[in-house]
Amino acid sequence: MAGEAPEAVLFDIDGTLVDTGGAGARSWALAFERLYGHAVDIGVLTDAGMTDPVVARRTFERDQGREPGARELARLVHAYLSVLPDFVERSEGYRVLDGVDELLPRLAGAGVLLGLTTGAIEAAAHAKLGRAGLNRWFAFGGYGSDSSDRVELTRRALLRGERVAHHRLDPRRVLVVGDTPLDVAAAHGAGLVAVGVASHHHTREQLAEAGADHVLGSLAEPFPGLV
Ligand SMILES: [Mg+2]
Repeated sequence: MAGEAPEAVLFDIDGTLVDTGGAGARSWALAFERLYGHAVDIGVLTDAGMTDPVVARRTFERDQGREPGARELARLVHAYLSVLPDFVERSEGYRVLDGVDELLPRLAGAGVLLGLTTGAIEAAAHAKLGRAGLNRWFAFGGYGSDSSDRVELTRRALLRGERVAHHRLDPRRVLVVGDTPLDVAAAHGAGLVAVGVASHHHTREQLAEAGADHVLGSLAEPFPGLV
């Protein structure tokens, strides 16, 4: 799709659009503390591009030594969602990543449909973006609450984008922007174009090695197909 403007661009949130400064990890920790009387450290799991339902399940299993029941999982998810917005609002390390504030209006202005693909539960995704006023840019999304599998939630995002566009999107002109090799794999699993952005914990080399079709140092760099 060299030189051709994308029809749609799907963005990951954590490490791609914003860094919440650890608000997610602190929220899971407090959720655990409220329910089970002690905090847990899930920092490693959340930053790896894993979906919220998987983070919740794995953390529970590691902590309690067994699988969570349906009600236990529901309680944990709601305990997390109930504290996340406050942690996001108060987080000292919260920041919008380089180039985001300029890129989103440029893409929208060029007639590119914008959506989200994120492992975050839908309400958590909007809480993370709300502090920076970024929700306004996204017409649809695929979320961790749609599937614990990133490929599947990316497919879901594409289908929702097609409903908004009211026509089939050409997968060669739908870009998925993310900061981890899992985002690259999810883009390709859904048949879409992967744009790796080395704005967080992964390097350009790691994203290229993962097979990204385009690799950017940050979203301040020239964006594929955008003149
Ligand atoms: Mg990410």
